[in-house]
Amino acid sequence: MTLQFTIATALSGLIGSVTLTGSFIAYGKLEGFIKDPPRLPGQQAFNILLLLVAIGLGVWLVIDPTAVLAYWGIVLVAAILGVSLVIGIGGADMPVVIALLNSYSGLAACATGFVLNNTVLVITGSLVGASGLILSAIMCRAMNRSLTNVLFGVWVAEDTGPSADEVYGGKVKSSSPEELAMLLDGVGRVVIVPGFGMAVAQAQHAVRELTNLLEARGTEVEFAIHPVAGRMPGHMNVLLAEADIPYEKLKEMDEINPTFEQTDVAIVIGANDVVNPEARTNPSSPIAGMPILDVLHARSVIVVKRSLSPGFAGIPNPLFAADNTVMLFADAKKGMLDLISALKESA
Ligand code: NDP
Repeated sequence: MTLQFTIATALSGLIGSVTLTGSFIAYGKLEGFIKDPPRLPGQQAFNILLLLVAIGLGVWLVIDPTAVLAYWGIVLVAAILGVSLVIGIGGADMPVVIALLNSYSGLAACATGFVLNNTVLVITGSLVGASGLILSAIMCRAMNRSLTNVLFGVWVAEDTGPSADEVYGGKVKSSSPEELAMLLDGVGRVVIVPGFGMAVAQAQHAVRELTNLLEARGTEVEFAIHPVAGRMPGHMNVLLAEADIPYEKLKEMDEINPTFEQTDVAIVIGANDVVNPEARTNPSSPIAGMPILDVLHARSVIVVKRSLSPGFAGIPNPLFAADNTVMLFADAKKGMLDLISALKESA
């Protein structure tokens, strides 16, 4: 057995196993059945220890390629490492983890390509690995975090911010589709902010219909796309493209943020964390430092969601209690369809 074969075997076992168990944990976190546990003291030292043990077993395998035990040892230790690495990463940082695991899967495939002497696997694995790394860097920049900070930074397990009662108590204004149709009557510019709730409700086609209706009435409509809106990188772009919303209407955060001041109405559809001003004002918030869409600067804000439940980061959102915000408590698709009917009736 060649040196290339044994090194590649050890690497594919190590990276593949970390990716597999890390992905299971990421899935559990995204589905909400694994909550952020408190980060244990010495967890980083434990992770480093696991990595060193896995490398040690790898060296054993390289020296003695017949040591099957060493290979399975690598797989087992790396499996524990995958769990330990991902379980400790704060909820709002999950987009980076998803992109990174994507990259690891490519690297594992690349290493396996060397084991099997399969050039196609080496090339495709490298491409997936490299694109995943680039995506991780883009996500980190979008969230104003460094990769080391995401992977090893300490996050505050208990939210030290205000409670939902303190933020919302008596300040939230609920509205009806008919009232919102009046608010939207004759406005010059509307910006739509889609989020995870639009994806859950599959409301993108209704959103397109609303866009067409508003445009037919002379309103300019654009979409504000936050890089981590939804539950996977590019989630909103894919959904809106599926609904045939022209790509030129989708504006990235840096481009659209300065325009909110000239916006008559911002319509937030099933988005929460990505429009939460706490990211700017509360340094101990789980989303502290994450750039947000400045919808509060619009003259009026309509938020369509079913309740005052928090988003992925699990914290209240002062936007919902702002003076210029009205809530439409509804499923995103039903809310959009009701709003469309009300607009048609008011025409
Ligand atoms: P959030 O998770 O912050 O909020 C989604 C909101 O949608 C909830 O408050 C919920 O409120 C509402 N909602 C759910 N179902 C419906 C429905 N059927 N109709 C209407 N509303 C609904 O979403 P954002 O997109 O604002 O932010 C994304 C979050 O996810 C960020 O914290 C990000 O870090 C994280 N994340 C992003 C990933 C990515 O790659 N993009 C990957 C992993 C995590 P209610 O229940 O009241 O309706």
